[in-house]
Formats: sequence, C-alpha cells, structure tokens
Amino acid sequence: MSDQTPRFRRVLDQFAGYKPGKSPSAGTGKSYKLSSNESPYEPLPSVQAILADAAAYINRYPDNTAAELTAAIATRFDVPPEHVAVGCGSVGVAQQLLEAVGEPGAEVVFAWRSFEAYPYLTDLAGATQVRVPLAEDFSHDLPAMADAITDRTRLIFICNPNNPTGTVVRRAELEDFLDRVPGDCLVVLDEAYVQYIRDRDVPDGIELYRTRPNVAVLRTFSKAYGLAGLRVGFLVGHEPVADAVRKTMLTFTVNSLAQAAAVASLAAETELLERVETVVKERDRVRNELLSQGWTVPQAEANFVWLPLGERADDFAESCHLEGVSVRPFAPDGVRVTIADPEANDAFLAAAATCRHLM
Ligand SMILES: *Cc1c(COP(=O)(O)O)cnc(C)c1O
Repeated sequence: MSDQTPRFRRVLDQFAGYKPGKSPSAGTGKSYKLSSNESPYEPLPSVQAILADAAAYINRYPDNTAAELTAAIATRFDVPPEHVAVGCGSVGVAQQLLEAVGEPGAEVVFAWRSFEAYPYLTDLAGATQVRVPLAEDFSHDLPAMADAITDRTRLIFICNPNNPTGTVVRRAELEDFLDRVPGDCLVVLDEAYVQYIRDRDVPDGIELYRTRPNVAVLRTFSKAYGLAGLRVGFLVGHEPVADAVRKTMLTFTVNSLAQAAAVASLAAETELLERVETVVKERDRVRNELLSQGWTVPQAEANFVWLPLGERADDFAESCHLEGVSVRPFAPDGVRVTIADPEANDAFLAAAATCRHLM
C-alpha cells in the first residue's frame, strides 16, 4: 500500500469550511436555536400545499432555466427576466459570481467582519481576499473600501444590512461609493435581510442597479420568506452579470420543490411580510431590553442583534447554551443573536441577564 494520500489544493488547508449554527444543548427543558437567522415560523399552509403537489413530480429533473420562478421574480421587481439569475440559495449565487471572476490575482473586497461565506468562497474560487475593517460603529467603512480598490479588484461585496452586525449603509454614502468604483469592477449588494430594514435612508439595491451596469443585487428566499431548507436565492443584475451567473451554475441546482415554493411565496408575500413585521417589533423590543440591561447593541436592521463582546463572545455563547439558548459567537468580535418568537426571545433575554458579569 502506498503511503501517499490524494493531493488537494493547498487553499483547502486554510479553512475549516462553513460552520452552521449550533443547535441548543439537548439537556432537560426547552431549547431555542437563535444561531442561524432562520424564520421562526413554519411554512404557510399555501406553500406547504404547493410542495405536496410538487412532490409528485420529483422523478423528473427540474426546469434548469427556472422559467416560471424567473418570470415571477421579474414581474415582482419590475425587471427584465434576462436580468434575473437563480441559484442554490444566495450563497450559491455568490459562489457562481466568484467562479465567474475568480482567477489568480483577482481581488475580492469586503468588509470585515461580515458574512462568513465571503472569505472561504473567495479562497475556493482562487481569488484573493481584501478585508476592510468595519468602522467604529460596526458599519461598512465605504471610503476605506473605495481606497482598497486596485486594478486587480473584480468584485466588492456590500452586505446591507451587514451580517452579523445588523448595521446598514445609507443612500448618500452608498451612491458616493458607487461613483468611485470603476465600471469594470462588480459591486454586489447582498440584501438577504432587506425586508427587515426600517431605516428609510437605506436604498433598495434594485433601484440602484437600474442605472448602474456594474451593480447587482443578491436576494434570498431563506430568511423573510422562510424557505431556508429548500435553498433558493437569486441575483438581479444587468445582462452580462446575470449571464455570467447562469454560465457558472451547476446544472439543475435549484430543485423543483424550491422553484415551486419560491413562486408560491412571492404570491403569498403580503402574508409573509406580516410575519416580518412581528419579527421587527420583537427585534426592537429585544434590543431595548438589552440596552436597559446595560449591553452595547448597535442599531439593528435585520432579524438579529449584535453584541460586540470581543474576547468574551465565546463565554457569553457558552453561558446562553447552558440556559438552552444557542446563539452565534464570532470570536474575537462579538455574538449574533437571531430574533425569533416572543417565548424564545424572552428565554434569550433571561439568559443574557444571567451573563451580566461578562459586560
Ligand atoms: C443568510 C444569508 C444569505 C443567504 O443565504 P442562502 O440561504 O444561501 O440564500 C446571504 N447573505 C447573507 C449575508 C446572509 O446572512
């Protein structure tokens, strides 16, 4: 037997891959998973009924062009269907984009800390990460990001609101930034949580993209629409961008159940957005309660709150875990806590109160 092992790309040694949110400890008593920014609600009955029907056809391959879903998205957002490209979650679309730009020497700029998929997808695509530290208030430092652009920059992620800090970039600063980006460099506005924004100065990326050929928007059905388990997201961008995403898509990557449920969710959007409104009210309640407990919590515009606890992040998360509440630590920066139903949120607030020594 040879003592050799199969050889893989060196870049794989540098990262552990994606770490999903921890499930609460299986101890006694109730437990709450507030670690993955999922919707706390089960799918709408109308969506479940569509899924049951679609299940009868899964011996067939899905529509590789996702024509019905693409048309539904195009109608909903008033964009040409040619400007829409779908993928296996918006993380899948982000991977397709990085495949499309990634080559040795290509630079991908993003804020840090931001969405944990950006670094490893960039590495995997063979491109180079350029991380620009967040500003003091935990929001994107757009002037510094503009300064980080070189002639090797191919793609810039702007996560708005930012995961995990919940902060936003507003219209004027974003437009100033976009004016500084060269036209051959793609700006991707990752708007996974757009439905939870209540700050009226935050622009809708789909309005910004219309006049800017190098701007594209990522949206997902995983969060507000409650379909995280089905894996479907999409991009809205001008034709060359959408085409590149279609070319790098793994064939049949959006399955037929996901396509059917996404179409049904767009049809049931009013109902789904009522749920979002409930989560937004809970978010503001949880944040206010945390502030009155004495914690620092930046303004939150998504379905989670951020506690910038630095090195104490892991201790805080462990302490919550013992109380049956799983939250997401990002040491050495802080802890992200997903907003769920009032009972789960109250369990978290009680756990936070027991952690006061970590303030
Ligand atoms: C959750 C999330 C996504 C979407 O994930 P998918 O489930 O793959 O659609 C994209 N970007 C950010 C910043 C997210 O937090």
